[in-house]
Amino acid sequence: MVQEKGTISINTENIFPIIKKFLYSDHEIFLRELVSNAVDASQKMKRLATSGHYKEELEELKIQVAFDATDKTISINDNGIGMTAEEIKKYINQVAFSGATEFMEKFKEAKDANEIIGRFGLGFYSSFMVADKVEIETLSYQEGAEPARWTCDGSTSFEITEGNRTERGTTVTLYINEDSKEFLDKHRLQTILDKYAKFLPIPVQFGTKTESVPDGEDKDGKPQYKNIEVDNIINNTNPIWAKNTSTLKDEDYLDFYRELYPFSEDPLFWIHLNVDYPFHLTGVLYFPKLKNDFEITRNKIKLFSRQVFITDEVKDIVPEYLLLLHGVIDSPDIPLNVSRSFLQADSNVKKINSYISRKVADKLLELFSKDRKGFEEKWNDIGIFVKYGALSDEKFYEKAKEFLLLTNTNKEQYTPGEYEAKVKDFQTDKKGQLIYLYTMDADHQHSYVQAAEKKQYDVLLMNSPIDAHFIQFLETKLEKTSMKRVDADVLDKLIEKEDSGKHDLTEEEIKLLKAIFDKSINNPMMKVEIESLQTDAMPVTLTEEEWMRRMKDMSKLGGGGGMNFYGSLPDSFKVSVNANHPLISKILAADETQQTILSKQAFDLALLAKGMLKGKDLTAFVERSVEVL
Ligand code: ADP
Repeated sequence: MVQEKGTISINTENIFPIIKKFLYSDHEIFLRELVSNAVDASQKMKRLATSGHYKEELEELKIQVAFDATDKTISINDNGIGMTAEEIKKYINQVAFSGATEFMEKFKEAKDANEIIGRFGLGFYSSFMVADKVEIETLSYQEGAEPARWTCDGSTSFEITEGNRTERGTTVTLYINEDSKEFLDKHRLQTILDKYAKFLPIPVQFGTKTESVPDGEDKDGKPQYKNIEVDNIINNTNPIWAKNTSTLKDEDYLDFYRELYPFSEDPLFWIHLNVDYPFHLTGVLYFPKLKNDFEITRNKIKLFSRQVFITDEVKDIVPEYLLLLHGVIDSPDIPLNVSRSFLQADSNVKKINSYISRKVADKLLELFSKDRKGFEEKWNDIGIFVKYGALSDEKFYEKAKEFLLLTNTNKEQYTPGEYEAKVKDFQTDKKGQLIYLYTMDADHQHSYVQAAEKKQYDVLLMNSPIDAHFIQFLETKLEKTSMKRVDADVLDKLIEKEDSGKHDLTEEEIKLLKAIFDKSINNPMMKVEIESLQTDAMPVTLTEEEWMRRMKDMSKLGGGGGMNFYGSLPDSFKVSVNANHPLISKILAADETQQTILSKQAFDLALLAKGMLKGKDLTAFVERSVEVL
């Protein structure tokens, strides 16, 4: 007998076709919505029992998801609090917006299904994205409650009748429409459940599986086994992030990591997040071993809201430089139907962001202080986060400078403070400027590095992809300090001291030398300068001015904006001729043919030391060398 017929309270003929039409993007979320409703109903039941409002003994709470390909139905069953007919009218029929006009207005602004569902509290109605008809069979926990059935065929009219459910709880049955038959598939449903329901707090059963159990002994006393069908529970109801840290061991964290990322190497370490104020957030973030391919490791953090998976697009919650981390974050303050525009606007989200950043810095400092050696060993993997973090977040840098490590060519590691103390005495120039020398490739720039080390200078190794930017950054942070690559000038000029060298060449000789080299080199991008260096320095050295080269390096890495301009400029070099070298005196004294041969030879040696002698120039050099010998 029909108890009541009515219209769902919105004053429009039919909003469902609209919902169905526009919500095409993520149809699968209907299952997330319905299963989460079932979880909510179960948890409410649990609370009623623990608070003593429900007196009877509570059986195990469980959610069952089932499908029938022949009947074309999917059903979600729970033994939660259920609903009375009155409650159905109140919670299901009155869609949470006041009128059709308002709905249409907001609808136009919304960008995706999630946003619409979130804005209107349409979780339940998302079922109409995939179903022609939806039926609710429910029995409330309240004493003397009558079972109720609600059906709706996707128009705005519904029907409430007496139901025939005998056990407390709710079953929602979807009559799947023609376009959504893909969901009537075991594998498909399993995948969706794995994605959204894997860590729900109430057991979710999807079908059955066979299990082998002991079955007595045979006549020789050998134990026997038989296969039985058992419920296939798809979720882990008590995931690690919901547990108290004091009960957890390293192995638990590692096991959980392996569960989340079965094909990854074990992580370096992890951070358990737990805040109550001013927002709620729990989670575990792992520092992975970085394989050089950052893209593979990106976007591995999963966002949950009360153990319901929401998204792995956490760009707006996690600071950009920590997107390389793995793990989970769970915050009930983030709505299920979270949309990007929500995340960007929400002030809690910004707080979450800076909280995570702070926690990560604290953890790194702790590791550094407790076990410096272990920290240094991990620096190869951690360094990239820390440098990236320092570059993108001022506050993070303020903490990070305590544990940020600079590595030199001898593989020794120093914090910025320690390094300053180490090199201050030797590497301060006559103007009081401290000069940090670095190489981006100790092999390639070997002769320059060696020359610096011969002078007892220290050379930093700056060879990770982020270093081009990091060098620039560090220079702005360190007082009275400049960073110079070892081949940015001749050593005496890189760190200029009071006793800068003299030579006794006349004006004429200088002119002549310049002319000889200009002619042999014959390249407008090579600027010849006669300089007085030490006699044991190279006769000719090729250098590349620091600033211009750095701009080019950064533009190659995508420095943005005006820097692309530098990237388009040709490389230019200084050819520094050492006026004090015996070979130079020899050139001056030689005849013209010899002058050409020797100057070419000296210049080629400089090219060779810089790794720039190639192709036919290299062949010419080899041939000329043989002749000279
Ligand atoms: P929301 O979950 O955001 O409130 P829904 O449209 O998904 O919006 O659900 C509306 C209401 O219907 C819920 O708040 C709840 O009161 C009721 N409800 C939905 N599903 C169930 C269920 N399985 N058991 C009990 N009540 C339910």
